[in-house]
Amino acid sequence: MSEYNKINKEILTELEQIVGQEYVLTAQEILDKYKTDEETNPKYFHSPEVVVLPKTAQEVAAIVKLANNFLISLTVRGAGTSLAAGAIPVFGGIVLLMERMNEIIEFNEAGMYAVVEAGVSTKAIQDLAHTKGLLYAGDPCSSDSCMIGSNLATNAGGNKAVRYGTTRDQVYALEVVTPTGDIVNMGARLQKKTTGYCLEQLIIGSEGTLGIITKVTLKLKPLLPYRFDILAIFTDVTKAIDLVPKVLKAGLNPTSIEFMDNNFVRSTNDYCETRLPHYEDGSYIIITIETLTEEELDMKMELLDGICTEGGASDVLEADERVWKLRRNCQESLRIISKVNLTDDVVVPLDKEAETIKFVMTIGKNYNLHVMTLAHAGDGNLHICLCKGDLSDEQWDKEVAQFHAEIYAFAYKVGGRLSGEHGIGAKKAKELEKYTEPGELAVMKTIKTAMDPNNILNPGKVLLV
Ligand SMILES: Cc1cc2nc3c(=O)[nH]c(=O)nc-3n(C[C@H](O)[C@H](O)[C@H](O)COP(=O)(O)OP(=O)(O)OC[C@H]3O[C@@H](n4cnc5c(N)ncnc54)[C@H](O)[C@@H]3O)c2cc1C
Repeated sequence: MSEYNKINKEILTELEQIVGQEYVLTAQEILDKYKTDEETNPKYFHSPEVVVLPKTAQEVAAIVKLANNFLISLTVRGAGTSLAAGAIPVFGGIVLLMERMNEIIEFNEAGMYAVVEAGVSTKAIQDLAHTKGLLYAGDPCSSDSCMIGSNLATNAGGNKAVRYGTTRDQVYALEVVTPTGDIVNMGARLQKKTTGYCLEQLIIGSEGTLGIITKVTLKLKPLLPYRFDILAIFTDVTKAIDLVPKVLKAGLNPTSIEFMDNNFVRSTNDYCETRLPHYEDGSYIIITIETLTEEELDMKMELLDGICTEGGASDVLEADERVWKLRRNCQESLRIISKVNLTDDVVVPLDKEAETIKFVMTIGKNYNLHVMTLAHAGDGNLHICLCKGDLSDEQWDKEVAQFHAEIYAFAYKVGGRLSGEHGIGAKKAKELEKYTEPGELAVMKTIKTAMDPNNILNPGKVLLV
């Protein structure tokens, strides 16, 4: 682990020269604001020593060079919706806020691409594409609040990944400030490319440890005109999850397949002040199908209805916007159960998903934790949420650690991994070290050390170097 110097007057003056005095913030209430992201457990909190808001890639590069010269840790922050303590400055130092880099530079309808700065909100891109009859297919549930650069940094998944893939599948090219302060363009606006290493894909998903993304060229897709959403309700959780491979195998090419267990059905109905059917006993599967023609839509709808009924659904209903509102508010609804809560994210092969959810529910009974499960079910990506309630801090930490150890061991046993989309952040760096095959871990560390020799970029995240 590296040792870092503290921010001093000389460094503050240099930062002010780079971005201007008003964009170098040291007031205590500001530093307090950035000591956490979505993390609710104070044991993970760390305050930055200074918060800096650059406007250009050149300013970012100058700040990175300064951080290297003075050996200061530097953590990039988008909107701070990380669920892996990714935006927390574990070693203090500089927090670099991307919110001033928020320009949509080019929106090209004919070429079906957009060039945007890293601090543009994901929702703004989605909305603009929609008004032009196009689709930006990245769609994390946090899209209202998160930023596109961070979506790349975490390779965010979300609701449309079944059909369109995760954020990495939406990207042509990047502008990146390297950990040593060079501005480098990676990738190209091409449908295929085998021209040297695919560096843009290395940066995507590296959680701010291998470079600071400053500009992105995004792919846009045609917006399909016909769509329907169904809500299939099950009283047997296993049957709900067993439906997923059947839908995928039928060739329906769904856009989304989402799952909420009954604990989430209750909490999110309560949070949104609604009462959708089977509040008391139902688990929900939400499926979206989009098509080019009405005939195709009718045909797929009939087929899907049959698959759900045969699969044991108690009810198959058309899902209107209220259902998606419930799904989007699952994470927020945890707060009404417990102020301190956490959402863990593991990914398993699709054919092991039902088994894994059953395992989670079974072992959950051995703990005093309130265990709730939802899933981007079409991707095998489970979110296992725990609420602290009245547990003491000590008991909570102990039970969470034991529970997670059982879940991670099971996930790896069935061929899964520690995270499908939220990333490793500060929270799972030790587990990554434990569960990753030594050869693979060594390659990761070699890359990090070569690119960031002073380990200044987002230290304490992903890898323990
Ligand atoms: C209610 C809710 C729902 C969510 N739903 C989903 C979901 O469906 N799918 C999903 O994948 N995630 C989801 N998340 C997690 C989170 O929203 C994503 O990880 C998102 O990509 C983070 O965006 P942000 O702007 O908040 O980034 P931050 O939290 O600020 O940062 C996240 C990470 O990216 C790094 N980073 C930020 N900007 C840059 C940059 N420009 N260059 C390099 N590194 C950078 C940070 O250092 C940090 O490691 C959800 C979170 C919440 C609270």
